[in-house]
Amino acid sequence: MRRISIFGATGSIGQSTIDLIRRDREAYDVVALTGGRNVDLLAHDARALGAEVAVTAYDDCLPALREALSGTGIQATAGAHALLEAAEREVDWTMSAIVGAAGLAPGLHALRHGTTLALANKESLVTAGPLLMRSAHSHGARILPVDSEHSAVFQALVGEDQSEVERVIITASGGPFRDWSLERLKTARLAEACTHPSWDMGQRITIDSASMFNKALELIETREYFGFAPEQIEVLVHPGSYVHALVGFRDGALMAHLGAPDMRHAIGYALHWPERRDLPVARLDLAKIGTLQFEAPDEVRFPALRLAREVMAIGGLAGAVFNAAKEAALDLFIAEKIGFLDMARIVETVLKDMSSGVSLRVNALSLDNVLEADKEARARAFSVQKTL
Ligand code: NAD
Ligand code: MG
Repeated sequence: MRRISIFGATGSIGQSTIDLIRRDREAYDVVALTGGRNVDLLAHDARALGAEVAVTAYDDCLPALREALSGTGIQATAGAHALLEAAEREVDWTMSAIVGAAGLAPGLHALRHGTTLALANKESLVTAGPLLMRSAHSHGARILPVDSEHSAVFQALVGEDQSEVERVIITASGGPFRDWSLERLKTARLAEACTHPSWDMGQRITIDSASMFNKALELIETREYFGFAPEQIEVLVHPGSYVHALVGFRDGALMAHLGAPDMRHAIGYALHWPERRDLPVARLDLAKIGTLQFEAPDEVRFPALRLAREVMAIGGLAGAVFNAAKEAALDLFIAEKIGFLDMARIVETVLKDMSSGVSLRVNALSLDNVLEADKEARARAFSVQKTL
């Protein structure tokens, strides 16, 4: 039996992970499941999987969680400290699927087991990539990517010499606003940004896909996880989301990874790695699909991609600032306090302000300096909003 924990169990990735686990129930011993305010779902899954502990991120949700788990023998805990305590429990495999920079500290704690961290939480690589990779290295732990593009690149590199890679191309669906004019984008509303043409995901990443901030985070994620130079990493718009990434080698060959837009592929690959097992994902019928469409990304209508390149050029704490300003701007857009294009304006202003001094250049990233930069960037984002 493999001991596993799932952080962000009640979310889209968490639920897809649980779907895979439930299909092969006897193979897993579930240690910790964590969630937020969706206490009923968390308690339901903790019972169904016989978890040791269920953790809600919010203290005020603890009474309801305790109540829902009473008589089961499953421990109920709450708060940031409880998340870290859960991450410290010995397991063989941890899914990191909390959304946002809130996933960083639990992920860092889980790496201390020296086992496997399946990383859906791309924000932790964006905010503190060198810290995370260094921590994995020093504890002899392994991080496996659980983003469709990064899992695709990882798979295309199996058996290859990474020094022979010329370029990496990650694809982007282009989201619901792919062909909208800049003028029209100004009027884009929340409900419109929350519908994704090809993927079914959590609300935040769905909106980030519409603004291309998701792809911006993924550019940085590619750099931090694989260590490629920024100029080796390209973005290609591909509306069907069948090709997830391509790796180009020095001889001109391009290895593409194709699959149905279903995160259970990337999750299952990370769960069974280095083996491949049967997965309940649709098989592509390419004759039926007929045509694969590609186009260049537009950095004028979607400035997030240009900003990600600036972040990679600055380095240091720029990733933490970029991600936090983006999270704050996204909160404001979800609260319908700012327009769609204001998100990039806010992020760009915060990044410019905070990188004008030397404040983003640090000798080494630490959880403390990353969280401090994160906090300041969020505060600045809210002040910038008042000047819009
Ligand atoms: P989601 O919103 O559906 O779920 C997020 C989970 O995190 C929930 O369990 C929620 O309770 C928990 N959570 C939220 N805020 C928290 C906090 N402050 N502290 C602790 N827990 C908190 O999100 P998702 O779509 O499943 O995405 C999860 C992560 O996976 C994100 O980093 C996202 O970028 C990444 N990802 C998602 C997909 C996808 O298809 N959904 C694809 C690739 C990568
Ligand atoms: Mg992705």
